Amino acid sequence: MNNVVKLENVCFGYEDGNEVLKNFNLTINEGEFVTILGHNGSGKSTLSKLLVGLHEIQGGKIIIDGQPLTESSVFDIRQKVGIVFQNPDNQFVGCTVRDDIAFGLENKCVPYEEMDNLVNKYAQEVGMGDFLNFEPHYLSGGEKQRVAIAGVLALGAKIIILDEATAMLDPQGREDMMKLIHELVKNRDKTIIMITHYLDEAIHSDRIIVMNEGKIILEGKPKDVFKEKELLESVKLDVPFAVKVSYELTKRGVLSEIVTSDEELMNELCK
Ligand code: ADP
Repeated sequence: MNNVVKLENVCFGYEDGNEVLKNFNLTINEGEFVTILGHNGSGKSTLSKLLVGLHEIQGGKIIIDGQPLTESSVFDIRQKVGIVFQNPDNQFVGCTVRDDIAFGLENKCVPYEEMDNLVNKYAQEVGMGDFLNFEPHYLSGGEKQRVAIAGVLALGAKIIILDEATAMLDPQGREDMMKLIHELVKNRDKTIIMITHYLDEAIHSDRIIVMNEGKIILEGKPKDVFKEKELLESVKLDVPFAVKVSYELTKRGVLSEIVTSDEELMNELCK
């Protein structure tokens, strides 16, 4: 498998002396859907910003799609790595949804016709094809995040980072966003790095990485990570209801292994 993201002994601290990452190592494969979980302050956002060169590392190496991230490669790398942040309102630059999705393409001087095709294609893909002439500020939080994703897709990013992208959405918005993310994952041509503190969003990832105080304390497939309920709770992560119940039932010998979704739990209990 190809590594598209590689961090080798990365060290980073803020100017106030707060060292956030120390000798941090991480490899992500092409097409992988990785969720990075951690309580507030564990270093998730710092990590996502380092991956797009928003902060400069103080030691180690970051390699994106085979290219070391340096001051001179940062522009190229930002074409490969798209990031969607928590607050959708901070990401809008255009007067309409169309302008907004087109913004990055305009900066790249993509010819008008090609740009128009890309904007239409990706607006459709995220379910916003009927909103192209709308003003972004009148959209719901979930719709705004879809527009932000369309902008990243239109630029041809191979790696998409969703940095707490569902945190400000209502339950319906979160559910719609997760459906869209699963659609992107199904196509398998994108590497998705989802940063969240909601464990239920991580259930369908290929791999979960749990961070605490700037370190990876646990990683693996969702089921294996959720088995570590006590460790997760010790770092203030609240495991999904189905995990909590099935964890207790496995201890009592009622179930042979933990399940991660309510649906699986119902199926097991009704057997
Ligand atoms: P998370 O995304 O997991 O909530 P962050 O990466 O935002 O964590 O924060 C990791 C640590 O870095 C925290 O101790 C936080 O206070 C600190 N931090 C984050 N941003 C800054 C900043 N701009 N200046 C100084 N310290 C910061």
